[in-house]
Amino acid sequence: MPEDRINSYMAGPDENGRFGIFGGRFVSETLMPLILDLEAEYEHAKTDPTFWAEMDDLWTHYVGRPSPLYHAERLSEHLGGARIYMKRDELNHTGAHKINNVLGQIILARRMGKTRIIAETGAGQHGVATATVCAKFGLKCIVYMGAHDVERQAPNVFRMRLLGADVVPVTSGRGTLKDAMNDALRDWVTNVRDTFYCIGTVAGPHPYPAMVRDFQSIIGKEVRTQIMDREGRLPDTLVAAIGGGSNAMGLFFPFLDDKDVRIIGVEAGGKGVDDRMEHCASLTGGRPGVLHGNRTYLLQDADGQILEGFSISAGLDYPGIGPEHSWLHDVGRAEYVSITDKEALEAFQLSCALEGIIPALEPCHALAHVMKIAPGLPKDHLIVMNMCGRGDKDIFTVAKHLGVDVRA
Ligand SMILES: *Cc1c(COP(=O)(O)O)cnc(C)c1O
Repeated sequence: MPEDRINSYMAGPDENGRFGIFGGRFVSETLMPLILDLEAEYEHAKTDPTFWAEMDDLWTHYVGRPSPLYHAERLSEHLGGARIYMKRDELNHTGAHKINNVLGQIILARRMGKTRIIAETGAGQHGVATATVCAKFGLKCIVYMGAHDVERQAPNVFRMRLLGADVVPVTSGRGTLKDAMNDALRDWVTNVRDTFYCIGTVAGPHPYPAMVRDFQSIIGKEVRTQIMDREGRLPDTLVAAIGGGSNAMGLFFPFLDDKDVRIIGVEAGGKGVDDRMEHCASLTGGRPGVLHGNRTYLLQDADGQILEGFSISAGLDYPGIGPEHSWLHDVGRAEYVSITDKEALEAFQLSCALEGIIPALEPCHALAHVMKIAPGLPKDHLIVMNMCGRGDKDIFTVAKHLGVDVRA
């Protein structure tokens, strides 16, 4: 580790992929060579200017980066406290932050000579981003999806198929996202030679959590430059919603060593974080365990069975959280809170009414927390929240909860 990075929150993970006691690589022996191969390729790409030149070009011309940093003036005024900025990652191609990371992994896959990309998806958004980039490069794309999710997320399944992906409904286990993750790992072991496994959040075995974080860090890097331009100083508070935690890590990471910047991750509290477990708050309502190749906080019952979780927002129902968040939580560098479905719906409506922005239900969790803290903060307090997805996909869910019939 270089001298200047000792005592840095940005130094991790260690050579075993651990963030404190979290992370690591809990995979079968057969997977190890693939993972070591990927790690070596990524370590090389990380410092290779031609890799980043290709990323920058596509981020600019295909994704539409940099995304704006927008001063939400009417919202700030309405809440009567802090000055609120929204990082507009919902304006990216495909409508969310996921493509930032997918591009990175697929450029890596191409450098490794892989022609077949596999992914797993719950709500379908990572599947759509992966299918999109595969279409762009003419790569074969296979997306594993729990059978139940295939039914619930029909529009995203159709999108993936339009984009040329092969969507495989998973019926093993209970047919959930967790079972789809297992099937994807099995596929990878069986198709070692030509296949690349593209993970959609800061989870999985090392090096995925660090690699996905690095790709998503474009969000926080842009925010640093943009807020210096607008305000001449760093923000006071950062807020982002957490499913697996990739958009949040992307915003937080470049600020981890700025001790005066308060960092808040917002989990999906569903119907409330209590014993009924009708929520997806892995950190605020779960316990450490091992899933998806790493140790982290998980939603589990008394016997260690992984629970499915519940949220109005399908994109937040990952049963765990990235290991780096578990570590940031335990060492106290970041705070984690939860927001209920009801509070997220209120935030959704406020963003529409005051800012003309229809947000995805995921970032509504971040916004709802901003609504709680902003009124008590001074007018010169700068909050940046990540508007990580747009709401077109969610309007029918919202209509149902508001008791509105929108059928033609
Ligand atoms: C997938 C998704 C999330 C959750 O994933 P993270 O890895 O926690 O960012 C949040 N918001 C949107 C819009 C998503 O598509």
